[in-house]
Parts: sequence; C-alpha cells; structure tokens
Amino acid sequence: MSTLRIIVVGGGIVGAACARSLVRRGGQVEIIEAGDGPGLHGATAAGMGHIVVNDAEPAGLQLCLLGRKLWREDAPPMNPDDGFIESGTLWMAEDQHGLDNLSRAADRLATAGVTAHLLEGAALFDAEPALSRDLIGGLQLPQDGVLYAPAAAAALVAESRRLGATIRCRTRVTSVEENRVVFAHGESMVADAIVIASGLDALELCPGSENCIPIHPREGHLAITTRGTCIISHHVVEAGYQKGAQGEEDEAVACAVLPRSTDQLCIGSSRRPRRAGGLDSDLMERIIHRAERFIPGIAGLPIIRKWTGTRAASADGRPLIGLLPGSSSLWVAAGFEGLGITQAPAAAELIAASIFDEEPVIDPTPWDPGRN
Ligand SMILES: Cc1cc2nc3c(=O)[nH]c(=O)nc-3n(C[C@H](O)[C@H](O)[C@H](O)COP(=O)(O)OP(=O)(O)OC[C@H]3O[C@@H](n4cnc5c(N)ncnc54)[C@H](O)[C@@H]3O)c2cc1C
Repeated sequence: MSTLRIIVVGGGIVGAACARSLVRRGGQVEIIEAGDGPGLHGATAAGMGHIVVNDAEPAGLQLCLLGRKLWREDAPPMNPDDGFIESGTLWMAEDQHGLDNLSRAADRLATAGVTAHLLEGAALFDAEPALSRDLIGGLQLPQDGVLYAPAAAAALVAESRRLGATIRCRTRVTSVEENRVVFAHGESMVADAIVIASGLDALELCPGSENCIPIHPREGHLAITTRGTCIISHHVVEAGYQKGAQGEEDEAVACAVLPRSTDQLCIGSSRRPRRAGGLDSDLMERIIHRAERFIPGIAGLPIIRKWTGTRAASADGRPLIGLLPGSSSLWVAAGFEGLGITQAPAAAELIAASIFDEEPVIDPTPWDPGRN
C-alpha cells in the first residue's frame, strides 16, 4: 500500500473526484477548501448537472464518455433526488440544416460506439410530447443523464473520508511550490504530490503557469422552477448549443432545460466572456424566451431562483489535466468550461494514474497542461 502524501487544493466536483480516486489507491489525502464545504462554491455550486456525451471534438468525447460511464457505474452513495438519473439528452433541430448536423453527429457517435437515435417528425414528439410541434427532428442519447453536483461533490468527499482522507475547510491556499502549499495565514504544508483543482483561478496558484494554456471566465445565467413543474423527461438542448459552448462570441443564448428528479426544471443557458456578476434581467428574459420557443408554456412556470455562475474556459477549449510543465510534484485539473461535472471522474482517474505511475485508461496527451 502506498503512503504517498497528497494535497488536493479545491473541494469542487473535480477536487472531490480526484480525492476519491487518490485515496482509493492508498494515497494519504488531505483536501484544502477555501469555502465552507465541498461543492458549495465555484462552478460546482452554480452548474446545471447535465451528464452528457458531447461530440464537439474526438478527445473531449472520450473524456465525456469515460466520465458518464463512471457516474453511471461508480457514483458515491447519494440521496435519490440528487444522484444520477438516466434522463437521456434530446438535441432538437428547428430546420433541415439542424437535422443534417444532428445526423452527422449521430454518425460520429456511432463510430465512437455511443448509443444515439435520430428521431424525425412524430418520433420526436413520442419521445418528448411537450416540445413545439414545428420542430423537425432530434437526436436522442438515452444514456446521458442529470445529477445535482453540489451533493455529488459532498458525497465524493464523504466516501473519501470513509477511506481515510481528511478535509480542511475555510482554508485558502495562497501559493504553491514544489511539494508545498502555503496558506493565507502563512502556515505551509508539505506533500509528495499536490493536485491543484481550484477552478477558475487554478493557474494563479501554479508556478510556471505562463507555459500553460490560459483559462478565461465565461459567465452563465440559470433559473429553476418550483416543484410540480417538470413537464419534460429528457434534458432538452437546441442543436446550435455547442456552437455557443465553443465560440468566443460576445454573448450566446441557447435553450438547454434540465429535468430534476425533485419535479423541477433548471432553465438555461447563456455564455459570455466574463466573471459572473449580478443577474442581467434582459439576458434572463432572452433565455426564458428561447426555452419557450422549444417548450411552449415553460415561460409561464413559476421560478423560485435565478443565478449566475462562471465556467473556467481554456483558450483551446480543452481542460488542463496532468503534471505541470517542468514540475515533478504539481498536477493541475482545471478549465472544464461547461463539462466539468460530466468529466470530473474521468479527469480524476487520469490524475491518479499519472501520480501512481499507472497506465491511463484513455490517452492523456490532449489535456497536457503544457501543450502548445
Ligand atoms: C452556468 C453553468 C452551467 C453548467 N452546466 C454544466 C452541466 O450541465 N454539465 C457539466 O458537466 N458541467 C456544467 N458546468 C461546468 C461545471 O460546473 C464545472 O466545469 C465544474 O463544476 C468545475 O469544477 P471544479 O471543481 O474544477 O471547480 P469549482 O467548482 O469552481 O471548484 C473549485 C473549488 O476550489 C475552491 N478554491 C478556489 N480557490 C481556492 C484556494 N486558493 N484555496 C483553497 N480552495 C480554493 C473553491 O472554493 C471551490 O470549492 C456548468 C457551469 C456553469 C457555470
């Protein structure tokens, strides 16, 4: 059994997943979290919780696929209202061009061995009766799903603690050196390996981060309805959503609506390049209006909360997962944009394989933090 001493900086979904993968290998793991508890801050507290195999690019698809597999087969024990539900995803096409794009996506997914069904005409409304009748088709990924990320992060940490990990909350790391983290009050702690999973600001802690792909903030607005309003069963997304997810345009709004097992709907989504600020009511209005175009009646449902969050978007659209360039003890796992909940368990396995010198389950080179 290894006695590697490992510090994980950050108790978001990525840090929590890393902690579990590391403690399972016998690491002596301590999580350092600036906030009050795991999953309560950062993007994890603000995200939607769609577990999705996104085919925007081949390497990302593999990371999503592994992440989804691990959520399906190896999620920590959770309250059924919060845990993984196989809702499926339904990508919706407004016109022939959109359907052609979905048809090409279906081919790519089939090549990668992912189950997906192209639905045309009435088949779309059989799958999801609440959709607008002028849509011409959709792509269904039945094994995608949803979960509640703050609870998932807490459950991963709880499982890690049962296996011997510890967590220190309300403790901010101010800098990281080889084999050492330094805290806000000046104290420091040594370790054999340090995993920097502190979200948006991760690179600020990383020595030599000028040699890494930069990470930029990308804001999103979301709203959640009251209980008793869940009028769809799939996570429904408009076909153009991925464009907004990848683009650097000033602002993108697209319909993405997530059914929660609490009988609520989480309504999104927007992207704009900045840190989350207060609510922009015009933007929120546009999101609801866009959702209404695909799901008639949704705009009339009572909303109990609206909020903003910040995605950590790397400059080339791929997360940074691996050993920092020039370092032998510092790993980073950050920059997951809108897919970090899906990809967290996969990233954790890559980090753990690297630290424990194991053969990785998928090729880690696309996520090398020092790539050009
Ligand atoms: C609006 C929105 C919708 C989204 N929807 C989805 C979705 O449907 N599906 C999906 O897969 N992903 C989604 N995402 C993305 C996902 O939420 C993130 O990629 C993921 O939560 C990132 O997790 P993380 O652990 O890397 O970072 P974070 O969740 O930001 O966690 C970082 C943690 O580190 C702590 N920390 C920060 N600095 C320090 C420090 N110096 N010292 C100690 N601790 C520190 C923070 O307090 C925080 O707890 C969405 C994101 C947003 C904003």
